Amino acid sequence: MDLVEFQGKQLFARHGVPVPPPGAVARTVEEAVSAAEAILGDGASAVVVKAQVKVGGRGKAGGVKVVRSVEDARAAAEAILGLDIKGHTVNVVYLEPASDIAEEYYLSVLHDRVNKGDLVICSRQGGVDIEEVNRTDPGAVVKRQVVPSERAGGLPRDIAMEVVTAADLPAEVRASAADLLVALFAAYLAEDATLTEINPLIRTPDDRVLALDAKVSLDVNAAFRHGDHAEWRIEGIDGDDPLEARAREQGMQYVKLDGDVGVLGNGAGLVMATLDVVAQNGGRAANFLDVGGGASADSMAASLRLVLSDPAVKSVFINIFGGITRGEEVARGVLGAIEQLGHFPQQLIVRLDGTNAEEGRRLLEEAAHPSIIPSPTMQEAAALAVAAARSAA
Ligand code: GDP
Ligand code: MN
Repeated sequence: MDLVEFQGKQLFARHGVPVPPPGAVARTVEEAVSAAEAILGDGASAVVVKAQVKVGGRGKAGGVKVVRSVEDARAAAEAILGLDIKGHTVNVVYLEPASDIAEEYYLSVLHDRVNKGDLVICSRQGGVDIEEVNRTDPGAVVKRQVVPSERAGGLPRDIAMEVVTAADLPAEVRASAADLLVALFAAYLAEDATLTEINPLIRTPDDRVLALDAKVSLDVNAAFRHGDHAEWRIEGIDGDDPLEARAREQGMQYVKLDGDVGVLGNGAGLVMATLDVVAQNGGRAANFLDVGGGASADSMAASLRLVLSDPAVKSVFINIFGGITRGEEVARGVLGAIEQLGHFPQQLIVRLDGTNAEEGRRLLEEAAHPSIIPSPTMQEAAALAVAAARSAA
């Protein structure tokens, strides 16, 4: 789950990462005007109005404006609210006292799958696309692998110092940047983040360092450890697929893809294999849902409802291997689900195997429901599902 900037800054502040003074969120121009009045009335000489979308490059897209008056704040909010930034509509802006910038750096901590550890990245060149810096001037980007044994009690300060020194941050801010990195790493660990990125990390004219921007991704698989993470979800900011969010609420494993065959299976291995046979047959999955162990009419109906509510789904491939859940129970689940769902245009291709599969297939054939095509093998079922999607398109 990705946080938007103002949330990332709140999370940073909780863990002692220095950020600009807090501001306010606005969803309308009038709310933005009140926020600007409050900030300027409080003695700030300028306010920054920032689009809150889960995509980078807001500055270049016109989504970040520094203003010195309430009138200019109004104009900025009018320009930014409703703006489209790389396909994300801006519904929320954040206003905070503007910071004075002497220099911009880059600092992040992220999960490194390949090396099974954490990676700290720091550069003296910040405020720009770090990938670009890495391409054109790789020497300017310092990467330090941190293995779990090194950070048992958090990131040791000498490693933090080593990183900011290697990145050649100026001597005046090295100590405070190292402290900030230790705090950033603590936030990353404590919150089960997969990414905490500050771009730019700024040096102010009075030599303080601050996180001027915040990009935070939290590990959804660790959400059970963090009751408060659910509170980061906010209305009106897209980024997460709405169906994925609904599936998560219902405890289902659902992933949105970009084809047109809906895939429903039990067990992660079988679901992955199902995606492969769909692809081998020239099709593309629209999504996949792992129904897990049970296949009751209720759980099947909930799963099917979810898969079918994706408008891209032109046919559905239900691929179930009966183990503890027997074939006839699955068949009853599917039939019961269809009864609950009422009319839908898509064909359901159902392949049952495993315990009591014949019994299940017999039930499906007897029901002779016009929406169901039972199929004995995965290959044949995939071919039928792809063909059904094609003729429906
Ligand atoms: P991004 O473009 O989505 O990464 O948004 P950022 O939050 O990084 O802002 C982009 C740029 O706007 C920064 O690199 C700064 O140069 C500028 N900016 C953002 N906030 C402020 C501020 O408070 N004061 C000043 N002077 N510039 C700012
Ligand atoms: Mn940025």
